[in-house]
Amino acid sequence: MKQILPKSLATLGIILLAFGLWLGLAYPPAELRAPSKAVTTANVKATPQVTPQPKTIVVGIQPLGQVPQQYLTATAEALHDLYGATTRQLAPRDLPQTTWNHAHTRYRAADIVRRLEADKEVGLTHVMGVTEADISTQISLTSDWGVFGLAQRNSSGAVISTFRIKLDNPPPTLFLARLRKVVLHEFGHNLGLDHCTHSPTCLMRSTEGNMQALDTAEAALCDKCAAQISNRTHSSTATTSTTTLTNY
Ligand SMILES: [Zn+2]
Ligand SMILES: [Zn+2]
Repeated sequence: MKQILPKSLATLGIILLAFGLWLGLAYPPAELRAPSKAVTTANVKATPQVTPQPKTIVVGIQPLGQVPQQYLTATAEALHDLYGATTRQLAPRDLPQTTWNHAHTRYRAADIVRRLEADKEVGLTHVMGVTEADISTQISLTSDWGVFGLAQRNSSGAVISTFRIKLDNPPPTLFLARLRKVVLHEFGHNLGLDHCTHSPTCLMRSTEGNMQALDTAEAALCDKCAAQISNRTHSSTATTSTTTLTNY
C-alpha cells in the first residue's frame, strides 16, 4: 500500500520549494551579482595630495600722516627684495589720537600697531605703518622711550618711524639705508624672528636705540635667521605665536 504524504506536508513542501527558488533569484552567488556602487572605484573621489606651498606675504604699507612717497617706495622695495613680499600702498590716515602718550609728545607704538591690526583689510597678511612722527614704547604710566619701530613676533602689524633716524640730519643715502634696515628688522619680528645673538652685524640684532649699532648692521639676515625665515615661509603649518612686543 502506497504511503501517501499527508496533504498538509505536501503543501509545506511546495511552499519551501517556492521560497528556495525566490531566494536563489533574489540573492545569486556573489560572483554573479552586479558590483555595488559603494565599492566601485569610479565612485570614490581621489583625495588631493597636500603639498606645502610657499606662503604669500601681502603687506599693506600704511602712511600715518604725511609721508614722502620716496620713503613709502623704499619700504615696499625693501620688503620685496628681502622677504619676497607683495606690497600694496594704502591711502594715508592720521595717527589715532588715542595713541598719544601721557604728555602728548609721542605716539605709543604698541597702540598704533594694535589699531593697524584691528583695521587690516581683507587680502593683506600684514600691515606696516610708516610715520614721520615720534613713536615710543611705554616704560611706566608717566615715562616713554622713543623707538625706531615696533612689531610683535608672529603677528600681522608693525610700525616704523623716520623721526629718530633723521635727527642727526644724515645724507639721503644713509637715511634711506637706515629706513630699510628698520623696516626689515620689524618685519623680521612679524615673521617670527627674535633678536639675534648669532652675528654682530645681523639685521635682527638689538640696537636698543643706538644709531651706531643701526649703521653697522647689515641690511641682511645672518644664516641662522635666514634659515628660520625660510622654514616659516615654506611651511604649511602656523608657527607658535608669542606675544613679545619688540622695539628695535
Ligand atoms: Zn641673525
Ligand atoms: Zn627688534
